[in-house]
Amino acid sequence: MKISEIYKYLEKIGVLTFSTISSGEVHSRIAHLNGYDEDGMYFRTMKNKPYARQLKETGKLTICGITDSRILSHNEDGVPKFPTGYSIRLICEVKPVSEEVIREKAENNEDLKTAVYDMDHYPAMKEGNFVIYKAKGEIYDFDFDCTKRDHKLLRKRFQFGGVEYNKVGPTITDSCIECGKCYRNCTFKAIEKGSPYVIISERCDDCGNCLMNCPVNAIIPSKTF
Ligand code: SF4
Repeated sequence: MKISEIYKYLEKIGVLTFSTISSGEVHSRIAHLNGYDEDGMYFRTMKNKPYARQLKETGKLTICGITDSRILSHNEDGVPKFPTGYSIRLICEVKPVSEEVIREKAENNEDLKTAVYDMDHYPAMKEGNFVIYKAKGEIYDFDFDCTKRDHKLLRKRFQFGGVEYNKVGPTITDSCIECGKCYRNCTFKAIEKGSPYVIISERCDDCGNCLMNCPVNAIIPSKTF
């Protein structure tokens, strides 16, 4: 996916959770992005905030968000309501961007004009601009009631800046005896019959039902991202 497409998914959510690391702890904040170009996606804070210091120290950031937080609601019978939507998460590498570079980019980039406004009004923002220059991530598009397709999930992984990532889901090995138990027990329609059976990774929730049902341990659990 292009940076512009990834940015649109994030922009539609708007308010996101940004997490950094500080002294071995994960620290999260509510934040948002404020522009993108071919070099990455931009956001800002103020120079003296712990957030800015943590980002400068580690260069690491994760971002996540969801289109509709009402996903946790229930109807009068206690049944969970799952409106369609998507969640998105990114594992990012970030670096500071100078005031001069932001001003130069803003001449041809409407989104970054607000960064210039902020720098002119809040001096501490002059050294508070960052760019996400490398990232890998995933869009977890859910339709649990199958209103727009015949399976619940569509997981899309992406990267920019030359980052590598692992595919979603477990792997069925050649030890498979084709008994079909994983196929019958998968509630995500994520298994295809074959020799051996195959996991359709984009549909897989990583729930592990297949692993628990395989009589010959022919399935290797998924790797981390
Ligand atoms: Fe193959 Fe195991 Fe699935 Fe049976 S449960 S089809 S042996 S992977």
